[in-house]
Amino acid sequence: MKTDAIIVGSGIIGMSLAIILSKNNKKTIIIEKNLSNNLNNRRVYALSEKTKSFFESISIWENISNINQLDEMSLHYRNYITDDALSFKRIDSQKNIGYIGESNNIMKALIEKIEHDKNIKLYDNCSVDEISNHLNNLEITTTNKNTIKSKYLFSCDGSKSGIKKHLGLNNQYDYYDSKAKVFNIKHEKSNKKTATQIFLQSGPVAFLPLTLNESSMVVSIKNKFNSEEFSEDNICGFLEKITNNSFGKIELNSKILSFDLVGFDSESYISGNTVFVGDSAHSVHPLAGMGLNLGISDVIEIDKAIKGSHQIFGDKNFFSGYARKQKIVNKKARQQLKIIEKVYSLENNAIMQIIKFGMKNIQKSTFLKEKIIKHANNNLSIFQN
Ligand SMILES: Cc1cc2nc3c(=O)[nH]c(=O)nc-3n(C[C@H](O)[C@H](O)[C@H](O)COP(=O)(O)OP(=O)(O)OC[C@H]3O[C@@H](n4cnc5c(N)ncnc54)[C@H](O)[C@@H]3O)c2cc1C
Repeated sequence: MKTDAIIVGSGIIGMSLAIILSKNNKKTIIIEKNLSNNLNNRRVYALSEKTKSFFESISIWENISNINQLDEMSLHYRNYITDDALSFKRIDSQKNIGYIGESNNIMKALIEKIEHDKNIKLYDNCSVDEISNHLNNLEITTTNKNTIKSKYLFSCDGSKSGIKKHLGLNNQYDYYDSKAKVFNIKHEKSNKKTATQIFLQSGPVAFLPLTLNESSMVVSIKNKFNSEEFSEDNICGFLEKITNNSFGKIELNSKILSFDLVGFDSESYISGNTVFVGDSAHSVHPLAGMGLNLGISDVIEIDKAIKGSHQIFGDKNFFSGYARKQKIVNKKARQQLKIIEKVYSLENNAIMQIIKFGMKNIQKSTFLKEKIIKHANNNLSIFQN
């Protein structure tokens, strides 16, 4: 078999990339080890304005069910005191401040699009067995013994990328010494379409509104603070306590999933004719809900690289510009989030006063708040669109 591109991994990033390649008239084969597994993993994402525009540009935004548009985002330091919060309102800033979407709904909209696209073939329940890349000739053998020749291999196989291991590439890591507990809750009182983040000494706790009385939680816990308080039996009581019962009675509405938190960047985003995209290239702390958004920025840059290049599609250096630029952008994003995580969990009185003072002043400044929203809506990129 021959194709223009092979994508390993049909997560949101792999499928989005396949649609972009097809729009550029490139034939693409996606290899996925277990699609239903990924569809059943019902993650909740904060989506930026840039990500929304991207999904609109590939005509899937309108087909994603149950997107919740945020009215407010409020950040609290240590205590859930609404008067002290740094808050961003959609109405004040005249800008959208983000959306909440569920992974299975985004995936379903992408799958439907791919099924009707003649340039894209998706092979489920298979993986890559062997890769050979001599000069510009790339060939892979799948676990079900198909041989595919392609101009490029895009590794979209997530943070534990087997392709990266296979090619012997290393990551540069940030160890947070923390876990994230991810689950859904029901609450008696409305969340008022407000995404809330409380920076505790144990780590940031995020409430992402799904409906008015349901929220998705990301509770980051530094390992030294991990105690019975965060167990399945006690976590709702813990959330009621840290929010001063502002949400009324809280009940668990899903299983609790637990992840070790690490941030990383791949030492390189290309190796021969293999290109790394999304979580296979980078991972950041979930405190700003940016991981998937950064991957979408990668896909946007690949689109620009194809449209703007004077080289022949198939040349080894075709994606060098993408690799250089996105490595800078994603490394900066990882460093920004690492500093925020570090500073906000410090227990030094002087620093705590500085943070409170800083948050109060930003709260008073429409200019600074607009700058922050603009940066978040641009997926933390230091480059302008
Ligand atoms: C606790 C937590 C909360 C988060 N919250 C947010 C948020 O609010 N907003 C946000 O933007 N991001 C968030 N993220 C980050 C987000 O989950 C990831 O950035 C995103 O899922 C990455 O998508 P992906 O398509 O690159 O990888 P994945 O979703 O991991 O997809 C990889 C795909 O590759 C397949 N695969 C793997 N290996 C192989 C193989 N060998 N062969 C074939 N197929 C293979 C897998 O089955 C899967 O389908 C969060 C992350 C965590 C840990």
